Amino acid sequence: MSVKNMKHLFKDMSMVNFEEKFSSSEKCLAYLAEKKWQDGFICKKCGHTNSCEGKSPFTRRCTKCKHQESATANTVFHGCKIPLPDAFKLSFMVCQNPNISSYEIGRVIDLRQMTCWKFKKKITECINEKGDIDMLQKVEIKKKLKL
Ligand SMILES: [Zn+2]
Repeated sequence: MSVKNMKHLFKDMSMVNFEEKFSSSEKCLAYLAEKKWQDGFICKKCGHTNSCEGKSPFTRRCTKCKHQESATANTVFHGCKIPLPDAFKLSFMVCQNPNISSYEIGRVIDLRQMTCWKFKKKITECINEKGDIDMLQKVEIKKKLKL
């Protein structure tokens, strides 16, 4: 599976294929970790490039300053209150059809319409700004959406 661009990956993927590949939090985290550190690790705190496995699965820990980073840190999925597979599914649906309504999403995924609306907005803004839905600075998100 290509780890280059999540938007394109989702756009070209069938629902069956998607559900098979991202059916659990572990699978989603594994994907994010693979994509995030495909070119190696760089510590956000000190810039060190050596890391070891963190305490929880799919985290990396800087060997110099001990800063631990999760697979979701600095992605749209960071601090997301929706279960990760649902957040992935919502992203998938938005990539497949950018004009999909939050009501429609709420019918497919068992989430409140307002929750869908908020997360859809976050993803749409990220796609518009970065051209993809994952890597971004969480500081920017907080400033923009006050989440
Ligand atoms: Zn560090």
